[in-house]
Amino acid sequence: MREKVWKDCPCCGAVGSMRAQVNLVENVQLKGYPPLVVNGLDGQFCAVCGDGFWSFGSERAMSRLLAEHTAQVDSERIVAAELASVQEAASAMKITVQGVHKMMRDGRLRYVYAAGKRFPIRAELAATVKRMAEASSGARAS
Ligand SMILES: [Zn+2]
Repeated sequence: MREKVWKDCPCCGAVGSMRAQVNLVENVQLKGYPPLVVNGLDGQFCAVCGDGFWSFGSERAMSRLLAEHTAQVDSERIVAAELASVQEAASAMKITVQGVHKMMRDGRLRYVYAAGKRFPIRAELAATVKRMAEASSGARAS
């Protein structure tokens, strides 16, 4: 995927207002979790309305850090019975074990830590399997 370079703001319609910015700090506040501060982000933002886009790299970095962050917190409150094994997740999603690890790392499948390892959350796995089935049947709603 190529990064699109914005000139005019698609949000407020200001002309030539988009600026590339680096070294941004984002304070991510998720309901039910302590805030997460992410440094070193970049993107393009409107000088008029302040709306804009993170770069793909920054989006990815944020997803990963956020997944890691929620996993750390959830590890304290999710019990073993609510977890699926990576094997189980792989066969449910018809992908490889490596694919499951990658999805967890990228924040596309929620997980927690147990004994230092990542485990998918069973309910989240079921939801993800459902989403994948819908996407492959062409009923994707983005
Ligand atoms: Zn704008």
